[in-house]
Amino acid sequence: MTTPLDWLIVGGGVHGTHLSHVLVNRAGVAPDRVRVLDPQEHPVETFWRVTGATGMRYLRSPGVHHVDLHPHALRRFAKKGDGKRLARFVYPYDRPGLEFFRAHTEHVVREHRLGSLRERCRATAITRLGEGYRVETNQGALDARRVVLALGLGEQLCVPSWARPLGGDARVQHIFSATFSREAAAAARSVAIVGGGISAAQLACALTAAGTEVTVVARHAPRIHRFDSDPEWLGPKAMSGFSRTRDPRERRRLIAAARHRGSMPPEIASDLRRELRCARAKWIEAEPVSADVTAAGVRLRLDRAPHLIEVDRVVLATGFEVHRPGGALLGEEAIDRLGLPCADCGYPLVSPRLEWASGLFVTGPLAELELGPTARNIAGARAAGERLLAVA
Ligand SMILES: Cc1cc2nc3c(=O)[nH]c(=O)nc-3n(C[C@H](O)[C@H](O)[C@H](O)COP(=O)(O)OP(=O)(O)OC[C@H]3O[C@@H](n4cnc5c(N)ncnc54)[C@H](O)[C@@H]3O)c2cc1C
Repeated sequence: MTTPLDWLIVGGGVHGTHLSHVLVNRAGVAPDRVRVLDPQEHPVETFWRVTGATGMRYLRSPGVHHVDLHPHALRRFAKKGDGKRLARFVYPYDRPGLEFFRAHTEHVVREHRLGSLRERCRATAITRLGEGYRVETNQGALDARRVVLALGLGEQLCVPSWARPLGGDARVQHIFSATFSREAAAAARSVAIVGGGISAAQLACALTAAGTEVTVVARHAPRIHRFDSDPEWLGPKAMSGFSRTRDPRERRRLIAAARHRGSMPPEIASDLRRELRCARAKWIEAEPVSADVTAAGVRLRLDRAPHLIEVDRVVLATGFEVHRPGGALLGEEAIDRLGLPCADCGYPLVSPRLEWASGLFVTGPLAELELGPTARNIAGARAAGERLLAVA
């Protein structure tokens, strides 16, 4: 029988990768006592895929939010070698270029051998042991005294009901599905993008640049906000009131009110306005009601004028489902068996240390009733790191 690990992190995206770095290089946990499970081959792979799909060039978050430990690490990386060559920041808040941010993340992973902590597998079930947990995976089981769930939202795409029957057709695809290719979309003559937020706007600009005719179908006019929630949610100004609020329903209400859903920052809105002015893109305020795939392309019916548009392809930029992430791993059977407390919205009720049950921790969206509206962002990973340090 092998000795249980000290820490097992399920999910090796931005959150899981940062937390493994915190545990080993701040808390001093021995590297052979920590493992990160993920079916993806490389750390942070899901983030590269989804950001690549949109054509995004700069992060929406400030330069102090990244996977390394010191808040100024990205600035320092910009001063020499590859970092200096690739360094790009945009005003305000020093938001980093995506390519530069990626080079820095890969540098951190290499420098601190974070890739060696990974096990390429998917967690399928969690059971409680006398001390700690057993995590079953498609490659066998692993035991650990402490488990961190860092699952992200990437596996719960929001696909509107009218698009579900066309699930297998490449002409109607979600922008974050594993098979979506921006290059293939750009090769089409005409594309309808359903959704009115930052991903829709970025993709629209990327496709018009490739000469594709773009129609954005959105429920609302462009909503302009620099961040997906106001910066006061990164500090005590908003978070102290949130933390004092005991009622989880009220916390959920505060989170929903703080999030600028379906919004885009001013510079993306201005890129989009340019494309609309030059008629390379159209913006239609309507809701699709059905779609038919024909030999000629896709006929998309709308609930109001122009009622019908015909395009080569439809891309859904409709974000993620908002229910609790985790799929069957955290289905009702598992929640009951492990005795995990949940709020009415289905999300975990956790302690300030992000502990859902003794030795079982959460980060990302699973931690949002404790960390607030920025929990799922890079800022949330850093906040979770601070909380876990108190435990490790
Ligand atoms: C297009 C786009 C742009 C964004 N830009 C920004 C930005 O600029 N700034 C910002 O702060 N945030 C941004 N975000 C939010 C962003 O998603 C998060 O900051 C970050 O990716 C979340 O990291 P994560 O580790 O929680 O999730 P993910 O990156 O989705 O990683 C979760 C990992 O968990 C793994 N996993 C899931 N289930 C299992 C399982 N059962 N077993 C093992 N592994 C599992 C997955 O394979 C995945 O690798 C953006 C999001 C999108 C979609």
